[in-house]
Amino acid sequence: MADRQLIEPDMDFVKKVGDFGGDTLKKCFQCATCSVVCKLSPEKNPFPRKEMIWAGWGLKDRLVTDPDIWLCHQCNDCSQYCPRGAKPGDVLAAVRNYSFMHYAFPGILGKALSDSKFLPLLLGIPVVILLFLMGIAGHLNIPQGEIVFEKFVPHYIVDPLFITVSILMGISLIVGVARFWNGMKHGVHPSVSKKLPVGDFIKLHVIPTLVDIFKHSKFMECDRNRWRYIAHLLIFYSFIALAIVTGIVFLGIYFLGFEHMLPLAQWNPVKLLANAGAIALFVGCTIIISNRLKEEEEKSKSTYFDWVFIMVVYFIAISGILTELTRLAHLAGLAYSLYFVHLVLVFYLLAYLPFSKFAHMIYRTVALVYSSYSGREG
Ligand code: SF4
Ligand code: SF4
Repeated sequence: MADRQLIEPDMDFVKKVGDFGGDTLKKCFQCATCSVVCKLSPEKNPFPRKEMIWAGWGLKDRLVTDPDIWLCHQCNDCSQYCPRGAKPGDVLAAVRNYSFMHYAFPGILGKALSDSKFLPLLLGIPVVILLFLMGIAGHLNIPQGEIVFEKFVPHYIVDPLFITVSILMGISLIVGVARFWNGMKHGVHPSVSKKLPVGDFIKLHVIPTLVDIFKHSKFMECDRNRWRYIAHLLIFYSFIALAIVTGIVFLGIYFLGFEHMLPLAQWNPVKLLANAGAIALFVGCTIIISNRLKEEEEKSKSTYFDWVFIMVVYFIAISGILTELTRLAHLAGLAYSLYFVHLVLVFYLLAYLPFSKFAHMIYRTVALVYSSYSGREG
């Protein structure tokens, strides 16, 4: 007789998956339609049916070490075809949320980010820090004359603050991702590949994965929602454009002596890139939000965790665009106030990045590299 395996379900995990939007889980009767229709699922040991079984049984340890949950791009083709309305796309999204909270460091921030009652506190922290620093520097009033944001929140306040936050965020992310990689290595799809020299590992697994991500090829394979692909592409490249702009301005101020050129003229290539990035971000977010509202009526449900991220990014784009327009219209009070709101939201996005939907992009990249390395894909 075959060995029996004792299964110890983690009911707290099942409840959390429900809270994160996977409350349809129990409807699954394991017909496997979802695994058949999913275009991203590998032929060998496909998903998401097995994940539906594991989630229903509360097998948390398998799921948090399973790279397959990150191979899913939540197109919801499977949810559309599921004969029981079990919404496997939503369940996998909920398991992903649980999974990266499980690895996030420090865990307490992860819990706060997923609970709406902490939102005022999380937004209040940057408000208090910025007002405190501006107060110390004697900048708590609306400056007179030409609108120059440097006169309101000087670089010597904002830059050290954001650099410190970025370093702490980077450490937190590295710890979380290292735990995740280690979890996958000893999880349900342990790597059977030989250990490679770093150069070969990068050439064979990291670069092809990054090329796929830059091309968004996986999104292309899910053809049910082309607009979602376009929106993700716009948001992805707008973040890259805005990061390049921030880097150039930082270098310009501290190393090239370009401070006198601020604010940049409208025709300046850096300004043009910034404006294009802001508009692409706004358009991408608008598409995602309208899609999500439509999907809520039809096939999928978004949670607070999903909404708070996209809304923060949306308001960053809107506050950035309005800050610029009110500056050009010489509306000093409005321009400076909007700039302050913009900084608070950017702080929120950056400081809480390892615990937000933003971190999904990084965890997914790591899971894709792991899948390539372990021979899991395809
Ligand atoms: S989630 Fe739906 S399609 Fe997938 S196995 Fe369960 S019942 Fe079948
Ligand atoms: S949501 Fe899309 S990618 Fe994810 S399992 Fe379902 S069909 Fe596959």
